[in-house]
Amino acid sequence: MAGSAADGASGGAGGGPRSDPLIGVVALQGGFAAHAAMLRSLGAEVREVRTPRDLEGLDGLVWPGGESTTMTLGVEREGLAEPLRELVAAGTPVLGTCAGLIMLDRDHLGVLDVSTRRNAFGRQVRSFEADLDLPGLPGGPLRAVFIRAPWVTDAGPAVTILAEVDGHPVAVRQGALLAVAFHPELSRDPRLHERFLELVREDDER
Ligand code: GLN
Repeated sequence: MAGSAADGASGGAGGGPRSDPLIGVVALQGGFAAHAAMLRSLGAEVREVRTPRDLEGLDGLVWPGGESTTMTLGVEREGLAEPLRELVAAGTPVLGTCAGLIMLDRDHLGVLDVSTRRNAFGRQVRSFEADLDLPGLPGGPLRAVFIRAPWVTDAGPAVTILAEVDGHPVAVRQGALLAVAFHPELSRDPRLHERFLELVREDDER
């Protein structure tokens, strides 16, 4: 965490080249390590997020998969809901995956205007892979790993559906929020994280 990122990284208003983006990865529970590894391999600096203080100064946030029930308890315990909403309201790009998608929805943090159904593809261990064509992701379909995944049951007007499986939305975008029902960190295809880091850099230039 120490090192070059501190040099000229803050603010980003100077117009000069800035150093690697600082991406928070929610580390209350679940698959945060694989996300952190993938983000680092793409040149981002990564900070694990467990408390409100960990949100300070982030350029972007990734919310990994895991168990939304356990994560909900963690968010309450640490008092993270309000600071997370403020981070989103400030326009900070967020990537939510699987349980991370659920955590952003209307029934949880309430920042992404969608309703989701947990374990929508079947009970307990129903897992599968699918090739998804995502707009804005050149290079052919993305191999998507679904593990007891949710799908989106309803989406508001500000939400764009990016991909569906069996007619059910599994990838959505609302402004700087990108949320997918699968696990992009488990395939060896880094394009979704790359796309997310592009959003972060675009946000920084504004
Ligand atoms: N089934 C989990 C939940 O409802 C999500 C699964 C996952 O993140 N892989 O929270």
